[in-house]
Amino acid sequence: MKEKLIRFFGSLHIHFFLIIFLAAMIPASLITTGFVRLYENRQIQTDYSQITSQAKLITNQIATTGYLNDPSAVDFLNAELTAMANAYGGRMMVINNSLQVVKDTYSAEEGKSVVWSNVVKASRGTTSYYVDQESNYIIVTIPIPNMTYSDSDKTSDSNSLLSSNDSDSDSSLRTKEEGPYLGVLLIMKSTDDISQNITFLQDVMWEVLLVVFIFAVVTAAFFSDRMTRPLRKIRDLIPHIQDHAEETLPTKGYTEVRDIAEHFNTFKEKMQDIDDSRAEFVSNVSHELKTPLASMKVLADSINSMGGEAPLEMYQEFMGDITSEIDRETSIINDLLSLVKLDKSGVSLNIQSLNMNELLENLLKRLRPLAEKQGVELVLESFRPIVCDVDEVKFTLAIMNLVENGIKYNHEGGWVHVTLNSDHEYCFIKVKDSGMGIPEDSLDRIFERFYRVDKSHSREIGGTGLGLAITWNSIMLHHGEIKVASILDQGTTFDVRIPLKYIQEGDEK
Ligand code: ADP
Repeated sequence: MKEKLIRFFGSLHIHFFLIIFLAAMIPASLITTGFVRLYENRQIQTDYSQITSQAKLITNQIATTGYLNDPSAVDFLNAELTAMANAYGGRMMVINNSLQVVKDTYSAEEGKSVVWSNVVKASRGTTSYYVDQESNYIIVTIPIPNMTYSDSDKTSDSNSLLSSNDSDSDSSLRTKEEGPYLGVLLIMKSTDDISQNITFLQDVMWEVLLVVFIFAVVTAAFFSDRMTRPLRKIRDLIPHIQDHAEETLPTKGYTEVRDIAEHFNTFKEKMQDIDDSRAEFVSNVSHELKTPLASMKVLADSINSMGGEAPLEMYQEFMGDITSEIDRETSIINDLLSLVKLDKSGVSLNIQSLNMNELLENLLKRLRPLAEKQGVELVLESFRPIVCDVDEVKFTLAIMNLVENGIKYNHEGGWVHVTLNSDHEYCFIKVKDSGMGIPEDSLDRIFERFYRVDKSHSREIGGTGLGLAITWNSIMLHHGEIKVASILDQGTTFDVRIPLKYIQEGDEK
């Protein structure tokens, strides 16, 4: 179950679905709720500016009629305040400088003190508003200006608010000693109309969101399916293609999918090649091992068929032939073992800093008897003393095969020249012979296992077809390079280059 959930939520399909869905839903929700908010703010601002402009006339009338001293004496203002309160579906309060309610259209608060920050602020000249969300009112507090007060009086009046006292004064008009503001007009206007509009807009908003939701689900389902379809197709095709060698993934559709398909096809081709070459190798090995066995069987059978009548010389000759077939079988097996050792992935080299001049001298010393037997001159030319990082056994094997081939595929009176040189980075070994040469069309293939230019001739002179494959692998393990150049009937040159310092893979940085 857990596995299923992980697979479900880990799927690209679901991710695409969610991304497309959220990409539609999030902006839609933000825009619609933002729009309702904006409308609400805008309406409240409109109300606020309407209230303040209408209140201006009333505050002036309050200031000029001495309403604050005796509200009951100014009937027309009382009527005006009541009419306005009714029009606003709310309430009006006139508050004097001591923060005492002089007039309340609800009558409830008259004579009481109002210590509310907005009222205090208004008594000092700041008009402000507050929206009471619970009771649905916008409450505007407006200062009542002292009409007889001028700016020049400000300095002397900084304390006048504190010292003035409504109850002490009995003049009908406020005097300039009373400071710039005489009191506060508090207006409560119902915001029911705005709330109704908002409820309506919210309903519309939910309807819009529902439509966007349905649209988002459909679009997300459609596109997530469409976008992941090529990947799912590849996923389903891969197991099928694994079993069908000739089939490949279709390279069409999105660029990324096409790239994956192309890489997969190349990879599959490589695997196929490796598989083919393995099969070919196994069949070559069996064939090569079978040939000496078959010869031995023929030799043994022919002696047996004579029923003990065979002459002694024949026995000796056939036994000699059988021994050389056994030698051949042994050398094939030895070569195969060397190759397998070099071929194993992760094969470790026993790297040492060795004197290459000595290494080559010893190597040639071992081959000199063979060279003398073949009547081939063997020469070593060293340009300088060279110390190089190599695995002695594996590297000697590589160069030995080259020199041995130079001797084997040569003619009497021929020569093999081995040259040793270096620069600051590489060691160069050249093995040049005056032998029979290699045809141009075979040059690309001589490093293949069991490849021989002339099978019968090579076998005659004891070749297994594995020598150059061993050399190639060994040089590659030393991070080197090998090149061959040859002219038929004139000779062959192998150029080997390996780095003086061996750098372990992974240490390169
Ligand atoms: P083999 O054991 O048959 O010598 P190799 O892998 O060493 O196998 O060589 C592959 C083939 O390349 C040989 O069979 C031979 O035909 C050819 N060859 C290799 N080296 C030389 C050379 N120096 N001169 C001419 N032919 C060569």
